[in-house]
Amino acid sequence: MSLYQNIADVEEKIDKYCNKAGVSRKDINLIAVSKTVGWERVKEAYDDGLRSFGENYVREFVEKSQKLPEDIEWNIIGQLQRNKVKYIMNNKIYLLHSLDKLSLADELQKQCLKHDKYIDVLVQLNLSGEETKSGISQDELDGFLEAIASLDRIKVKGIMTIGPTFGDEAEIRKDFASAKKIFDKLKNSMSDIQYLSMGMTGDFGWAILEGSNMIRVGTAIFGKRDYNKA
Ligand SMILES: *Cc1c(COP(=O)(O)O)cnc(C)c1O
Repeated sequence: MSLYQNIADVEEKIDKYCNKAGVSRKDINLIAVSKTVGWERVKEAYDDGLRSFGENYVREFVEKSQKLPEDIEWNIIGQLQRNKVKYIMNNKIYLLHSLDKLSLADELQKQCLKHDKYIDVLVQLNLSGEETKSGISQDELDGFLEAIASLDRIKVKGIMTIGPTFGDEAEIRKDFASAKKIFDKLKNSMSDIQYLSMGMTGDFGWAILEGSNMIRVGTAIFGKRDYNKA
């Protein structure tokens, strides 16, 4: 399948689920997840019209953001180690989706001060309780937000979650529905809350039905990943 055709297929599916959910296509942000994908192919996706990309690994992100056009919105969606924060500071980041630890928040604050920058973030929630997943639990969220409220370089723009890996439709949608509830509550109490990032290749239709406004799609756009290339 060509990249162009894959993107068209993804757009068709987004449209279908937007109709079902009664939301407008323009309310859904599509992030093309380009981890392990070479920059030439990302450029091809850019030439096909995509502007928003998601990366998991710092080295890849830095390389691609230096080689590719400046109007790309780069999202960091994977777990970010504290000692790697300094390497992302020279590149423009649209949104970090995976803030999941106070120690990471402290380092972001410190490096942002040093580089005179601000960073927009989503707090990653782990609703399924799966231990292999990062993210803070629902019970920890209020305390976490309180703890980072004093870090003035970090702007919380919403939440991100990953659906349960082995769940069926009902289980996945249940977690997405919980995330939407949390998101709505935050939106009422915090002025900058804007994004609910949930839904990947296998479940973005259900995510849209449950109120996601930002989906992160890799495989359906770029095909199966080859981790040896990463
Ligand atoms: C890799 C990744 C995706 C994309 O997954 P696909 O199933 O290929 O669409 C989305 N979100 C996160 C956090 C990822 O690590």
